[in-house]
Amino acid sequence: MPEPLVFAHPEPAPAPTRIWPVFLPFAGCPHRCLFCAQDRQTGRDRAVLAPILADLERDLDAALAGGRGPYELAFYGGTFTALPAPWPEAFLALAARFRERGLVTRVRCSTRPDRTEPAVLDRCRALGLDLVELGIQSFDDAALAASGRGYGGGAARRGCARVVESGLALGVQLLPGLPGDREGLFQADVREAAALHPETARLYPCLVIEGTDLARAWRRGEYVPWAVDRARDELARALPVLWGHGVRVIRLGLAPEGTLTDAVLAGPWHPALGQTARSLALLSIIRRKVAELGRGPVSLTAPRRYQGELFGQANELAPAYAALGLPRTRVRFADTAVFSLA
Ligand code: SF4
Repeated sequence: MPEPLVFAHPEPAPAPTRIWPVFLPFAGCPHRCLFCAQDRQTGRDRAVLAPILADLERDLDAALAGGRGPYELAFYGGTFTALPAPWPEAFLALAARFRERGLVTRVRCSTRPDRTEPAVLDRCRALGLDLVELGIQSFDDAALAASGRGYGGGAARRGCARVVESGLALGVQLLPGLPGDREGLFQADVREAAALHPETARLYPCLVIEGTDLARAWRRGEYVPWAVDRARDELARALPVLWGHGVRVIRLGLAPEGTLTDAVLAGPWHPALGQTARSLALLSIIRRKVAELGRGPVSLTAPRRYQGELFGQANELAPAYAALGLPRTRVRFADTAVFSLA
């Protein structure tokens, strides 16, 4: 019996700490971007920061009293590094107080890549910020211009470099399928993002959401979003590239939060989009391992945690595995950390 090929899933281990999101919709944003619907995602029209801060303090106190946590506090939904004084300081000071008490172990924010002045990043870091997620969306000048982001690829790259140079951890958000998209662009963006070795990535295929300028363009027939199948296939290609660079992909597609579900007009919106992309990515990894084996496989033993993922939704990938020589009868799941292809 020849030696089996033993390999681990390339996905980095998940973070040990749960994220506690704090939404500050549109706060600090220089304008409202074409596609952005933070109001629908968060259920808030705009951020009034004083009550958000007061609510957060009350909720953190309750969590501490209830013995919950620890958490990573995450300020999302706006341009945190462009908040006017005293707000970045006020939110970070509150986080620091709960860090001293053991409830908060890490703090992150999201912001735009063109709002990354080194002095601001240094100050935020000194006040306790650990990670910055940059809403890069794309590194491509033409796609960024067509989407009215207000910066080009150079600023996107500079923003990433500044976050790293300031000693903060980097997170990257990409938004494939924007106006100005073209074949191969997303995969080029993924390769460029992966080469920066960010700690995390979020991939949000562009949706048409009621109330946005993109919805108006779509109604005029000026914008055609990706189909669900295209988004699934593109995400599935992106995942092994990011995982292979040690990047944790912490979100695939927008979460069905707030009033978002009712507001999506068009685009690759499917509750299982992320899961089907993950299944397809795993199939591509196993397909490569079968090729590496250099002969028809006899069996595959897979970690039990992939039991719900390997064959895809409603076993849709079973025929593809059978074509590889791995019908269901030759696949078993076991309490093991690695795959074994014999
Ligand atoms: S995409 Fe980012 S910068 Fe643009 S409006 Fe939304 S939160 Fe603000």
